[in-house]
Amino acid sequence: MAESRKLRMGIVGGGPGAFIGPVHRLAAEMDGKIQMVAGAFSQSPERSAEAGRSFGIDPARAYASWQQMIAEEPLRSDPIDFVVIATPNHLHLPIAQAALEAGIPVMSDKPATANYAEAQALEALVAKSGLPYGLTHTYAGYSMVREARHLCASGRIGAIRKVAVEYLQGWMSTPIETTGQKQAAWRSDPAQNGQGGSIGDIGTHAFHLLEYVSGLQVTAINATLRSVVPGRRLDDDCNAFVRLNNGAAGTLACSQVATGLLNELSLRIFGDKGSIEWRQTDPNRLLVRWLDAPDEIHHAAASYLGADARAFARTPSGHPEGYLEAFAVLYREFADALIAFKSGAAAPLPPTLPGIVAGVRGMRFIERTIESNSRQAWVDF
Ligand code: NAD
Repeated sequence: MAESRKLRMGIVGGGPGAFIGPVHRLAAEMDGKIQMVAGAFSQSPERSAEAGRSFGIDPARAYASWQQMIAEEPLRSDPIDFVVIATPNHLHLPIAQAALEAGIPVMSDKPATANYAEAQALEALVAKSGLPYGLTHTYAGYSMVREARHLCASGRIGAIRKVAVEYLQGWMSTPIETTGQKQAAWRSDPAQNGQGGSIGDIGTHAFHLLEYVSGLQVTAINATLRSVVPGRRLDDDCNAFVRLNNGAAGTLACSQVATGLLNELSLRIFGDKGSIEWRQTDPNRLLVRWLDAPDEIHHAAASYLGADARAFARTPSGHPEGYLEAFAVLYREFADALIAFKSGAAAPLPPTLPGIVAGVRGMRFIERTIESNSRQAWVDF
């Protein structure tokens, strides 16, 4: 593909009042490689049209349904190059399946599907289609997460012995799903969310971050799930021990009833030479500690960082980047991969960009965690 134009994006979701859809649009367009030209922004045709008007897109491309968008876009002379999925979880598989079967690449939000069996089905569909499929595990886009990954992979902190990952929020500390708050409403409904409550919503991010940065795989889990708020149908709190494939061990905690906390994701990894600590609330710094040397603070965009952390710096050191820029890193990688793919490249995605393998691992995490909780025992992955 002679890349004299922007890639054309069509989104499902992201209508009025949506949380993550607008983030996708801003992040996708940040680097000038992608333009949102179409969408089925809402399950309501009127609200989809209203959203289309507010975004200034061609009214004919503010579709009444995602089925219509996927059926009609390929018939155009200027069709969308990929579909973004930013809907509640139960729609992820049907939309991805329809897109892939229509020959349209996919960028999906997490979790990949509503359950593990669906994730396996999706993995087969992605393989059969041969098309790029990206998964927006946002935290993989932070430059200091890339640096932490580099410090683990390069052996700088030595052999990994212990990991501790925590993702704590407090916004569901009350029965907020009964008040009409729409993000809480679908997240508390197993039919729209799947069986993993906090573990599906934020535990999958924590699990992904742990494996992504350490380069290790969880082999077994022993978890306790709770629904702390009376009447809640899904878990809102999880405490788990994990074992890793190099013999290391660790803890994984997530909660949406951590009163007063907003979005506190943290990761610590301990090797036999040193350790790293990253916090989403202070994302432009990475703490690195050594066996017998002073602690270090590594700053985003600094010249001494590894190539991957430096590759995406948009602002000079000391000028903070955050959530939108991290999301945009994933989109830049996806755009570059898609351009290469359209030019005939065989390997569609770089290893730094989460895809269907991470999606299946995340769904396995949910399934295994629920099983461990119900048996109150260690379960193998
Ligand atoms: P939301 O309720 O705010 O938005 C969902 C959107 O989907 C709404 O605009 C709704 O109208 C639309 N929608 C629902 N059914 C539809 C249909 N049939 N056709 C077209 N549009 C439809 O939810 P959210 O919080 O934005 O979450 C959406 C997804 O993003 C979830 O899978 C969630 O897990 C994920 N998410 C990811 C992150 C992240 O950091 N990567 C953060 C938040 C949410």
